[in-house]
Amino acid sequence: MDIVINISVFAFGAILGSFFNVVIFRLPRKYSITHGTSFCPHCKHRIMPLELVPILSYLFLKGKCAHCHAPISIRYPIIEFITGLSFLFSYLRFGLSYASIIAMILASLCIIIAMIDIDTMEIFDRFHLMIFALALVHVLFISQLDIVSHLIGFFIISIPLYVIAVITNGIGGGDIKLMAVSGFLLGYQATLVAFFFGAVFGGMVAVYLLLTKQTQMKSLMAFGPYLCIGIYIAYLYGMDIFTWYMSLLT
Ligand SMILES: [Zn+2]
Repeated sequence: MDIVINISVFAFGAILGSFFNVVIFRLPRKYSITHGTSFCPHCKHRIMPLELVPILSYLFLKGKCAHCHAPISIRYPIIEFITGLSFLFSYLRFGLSYASIIAMILASLCIIIAMIDIDTMEIFDRFHLMIFALALVHVLFISQLDIVSHLIGFFIISIPLYVIAVITNGIGGGDIKLMAVSGFLLGYQATLVAFFFGAVFGGMVAVYLLLTKQTQMKSLMAFGPYLCIGIYIAYLYGMDIFTWYMSLLT
């Protein structure tokens, strides 16, 4: 029975993931998200419902348009897969609970933010507002932490980032706002964990790009995607990791 539920949760995420693909593609281009059907960018063939089954359609069509056989980006099934996986992890961590729903919404926002940041090097303010709204629900109804921990979370990384941004001009305002609203959601303990993971992942990729001299791969240097991974991990396990780390110090 467990396996059926797990597969259903994954499938639900993957279906939403294919909608996120539309959002990620259309939002920066200012196209309507709710109007208009999907079409092949190459031959304008209207994509039929059967060609829209997440992941499976891509595999079945071998990554090509059913009409003109132009290649379809592997990005689409990957985003569907990651969304499905993040929903499954949220469910496995929190079970049937409101925290699970918050984790799934957070994962969704993180995926959209990360992909748009990779494409445009920008994080839109509306997403900061959505995370802030999510944080309010979490802080008021779910969190075990006191409000002060959440308020400190808002500032603990965003202020140092702001100072670094003023001095070096190397950090975008979108990243600072992301760490502020996410910090409010997570509380300061998990916020430190989120930033630690974000910095480690971002740092590893930066070193790899430098070593392989792919410095023209600027899009991979957007900091937002790594912060997003850290934020999602921290919502699931941040408090446990923080408590474990503190126990090492004492
Ligand atoms: Zn086509």
